[in-house]
Amino acid sequence: MPGFEENPNPFEIAHQQFERAANALSMDEDMRRWLWAPKRALIVTLPVKMDSQKVWTFEGYRVQHNIARGPAKGGVRFHPDVTLDEVKALASWMTWKCAVVNIPYGGAKGGVRCNPKSLSQGEIERITRRYAFEISLVIGPDKDIPAPDVYTNAQTMAWILDTYSMTVGHSALGVVTGKPIEIGGSLGRSEATGRGCQYVVREACRVKNIPVDKARVVIQGFGNAGATVAKLLSQDGAKVIGLSDSRGAIYNGAGLDPKSVMEWKGKHETLAQYPESENISSDELLGLECDVLIPAALENQIHAGNASKVRARIVAEAANGPTTPSADDILKEKEIFLLPDILANAGGVTVSYFEWVQGLSSFFWDEATINQRLESIMKRAFTEVYETSKKHKTDMRTAAYILGVGRVAEATKIRGLFP
Ligand code: NAD
Repeated sequence: MPGFEENPNPFEIAHQQFERAANALSMDEDMRRWLWAPKRALIVTLPVKMDSQKVWTFEGYRVQHNIARGPAKGGVRFHPDVTLDEVKALASWMTWKCAVVNIPYGGAKGGVRCNPKSLSQGEIERITRRYAFEISLVIGPDKDIPAPDVYTNAQTMAWILDTYSMTVGHSALGVVTGKPIEIGGSLGRSEATGRGCQYVVREACRVKNIPVDKARVVIQGFGNAGATVAKLLSQDGAKVIGLSDSRGAIYNGAGLDPKSVMEWKGKHETLAQYPESENISSDELLGLECDVLIPAALENQIHAGNASKVRARIVAEAANGPTTPSADDILKEKEIFLLPDILANAGGVTVSYFEWVQGLSSFFWDEATINQRLESIMKRAFTEVYETSKKHKTDMRTAAYILGVGRVAEATKIRGLFP
């Protein structure tokens, strides 16, 4: 399809990935249609008074893809490119992801089409609160539990929690995860996505005979997921040689210090121009020779136009959907070992699950316990996906889908058809 690869629709991509797994599972057509379609998709209109006193109208979404294995779970994204199709794709990835790590959740996602970089804190708060109010129809601690995603954070979750609590008349701490510690957040949640990624990168290095403390690592995206995994792998002794954010990319073959880059970014709002590094282009970053490449920004970053330039031995998808299907095929031909998003970034939702469990039981765990339980879940999931890939003689992405989609299909069959 002309133009498809240049600007692929994430929902189309998610569907192709699902179909590959359904084929491997010899799933019948009825079950395919049932599992693929989102259960609910809510579009909300958000009129918000801006600092200028003018009223702007934003569009927001909350999609619950599947709830066969438990309440719907998934982040909320604030970004100018958010579309309903993107949110539907992200919601379906959450369904399979929760099943891959075997936690009792279904999949959901939300988003508001807005540009937080051009909004004041007050405007962001008013957008968030109106959004939370509008989606309070479908969210709740037993129904659907939002969490942070791109350009949302613990503060955003606090506003959603507060607004939802006002609508139900009591404090509903379990309505979101990724919230501040002071109101029931979990230790370790803010680092969980990066930490989970670190654990599966360690496993991938082990099976590929790459000593982690000698690994050269390149990371695209220096936000919550990217900056954390940079810091943690560097603590493992790995050399982080390339980093980027939305405004620039930097390279130093002798290694960058993620902590110091973080301080620079804190002062200058971008890591570009960081001293003792060379400024490079985004495509040059993805083409750096390295052991581990970690896309940790947005979708469709590795595509047919640049995949052949990737010179990594392992690609670990901390971001959701960073690789298009054509790029996937190219990476496969190059025998690059790919850790798919639904495995590599599942640490975030896993610690969100811990946060929810701790809140429900009003009993909070220490950080060492959280990290140790996260490690055991991530290692188990890696092993199960790796074994599935060997059993089905397929790549790690298809294997992860076979595992995740297979578990959701089983749950659906056992529950039976209503009415
Ligand atoms: P974030 O907002 O904290 O960080 C995003 C980073 O990506 C920023 O540094 C931004 O500058 C950078 N970026 C944006 N466009 C870029 C581009 N074109 N090139 C290079 N860098 C670019 O978001 P996050 O929470 O770290 O999420 C990043 C990815 O990880 C997303 O795909 C998200 O869905 C996924 N993810 C996040 C979590 C989580 O818990 N935060 C969990 C699972 C998956």
